[in-house]
Amino acid sequence: MSTTPQSMQAAILHGPSHVTLETVPVPPLGETDVLVQIEAATTCGTDLKVFLQGRHARMITPPSVFGHEFSGTIAQVGTRVRQFHEGMRVVGNNSAPCYRCYYCRRNLPNLCDDLLFINGAYAEYIVVPERVVQTNLLVLPDALPCAVACLTEPLACVLHCLDLAKMHPGDTVVVNGDGPSGLMLAAMAAWRGARVILCGRAPQRLGLAKQFGVDAVINYAEVLDQVAAVRALTEGHRGVDVAIEAVGRPEVWETTVAMVRKGGQAIFYGGCQGDTQVRFDTHALHYDQLTLQGVFHNTPYHVRLALDVLASKHLDGAALITNTLPLARLCEAFALMRTRQALKVAILPGSQHA
Ligand SMILES: [Zn+2]
Ligand SMILES: [Zn+2]
Repeated sequence: MSTTPQSMQAAILHGPSHVTLETVPVPPLGETDVLVQIEAATTCGTDLKVFLQGRHARMITPPSVFGHEFSGTIAQVGTRVRQFHEGMRVVGNNSAPCYRCYYCRRNLPNLCDDLLFINGAYAEYIVVPERVVQTNLLVLPDALPCAVACLTEPLACVLHCLDLAKMHPGDTVVVNGDGPSGLMLAAMAAWRGARVILCGRAPQRLGLAKQFGVDAVINYAEVLDQVAAVRALTEGHRGVDVAIEAVGRPEVWETTVAMVRKGGQAIFYGGCQGDTQVRFDTHALHYDQLTLQGVFHNTPYHVRLALDVLASKHLDGAALITNTLPLARLCEAFALMRTRQALKVAILPGSQHA
């Protein structure tokens, strides 16, 4: 067994847009934990929010490590770990349910009362705690690059969302939002046999959506009335069977509902700011018998499914990774995200060139 590294480079969040690269001790490894040397960590909208706000209300208080989409090689396992060993390439989900609470017993593990989250992907090493080791640490197929494997977590959220969609092959689905999640939602809805419309505002991303099997794209910047533009793509302007919001803005939640046909469903995938409200027309909800569906996070089942989808290339994960940067340039990655120049940036902590 190789010796445990004592210290590592890690990006430490100190406050709004304030991150420094520091040498910190490698966290202690418990006897049921696994130490992963991170090969790649991808940026995500949530990380950008955390970076800009300098904290996360539920899980990150500065100074702190952060980042949650990671993949790498096992550097060491705790003395009581049997199913993993040093040298295995793995991807970890950023959370694990308890499988004891009311919601876990109701088969709603994403709503677990005691969901354990891990952070610290923007570092050379991460300690994966027992519960994640037991439920949500998966071995990678040899051919799958670590950077692509990092998409397992967000893709698991996407697949979980689509399982809540009352959607049949041939149905029309609109996805509002051309971020990585919107593109994955659109691609996976198309893969499941829906006719998909994607609404966004970046021509390059709308082009990528077409590569992903999306039938029609609408550029917000080019239409006066987005709702009318979407309805015009349905028979008799009746509206779509399922409309998904993947932006996280109250006004888009509202337009998403307005795109749905009678008896159809609106799904809210994008999380809005904490203190926001939305307004819906009660008559439309009542007489048109609409279903409004919130959705949060993923489940261990969907984590496995996501890795399978990436490994079998049903989704071209590599196409979503537009940039690759060493850990020392993490702030640049967030600048690229904020200006929407990047979809996902793969941060490579092992890469030394700064
Ligand atoms: Zn994420
Ligand atoms: Zn639970």
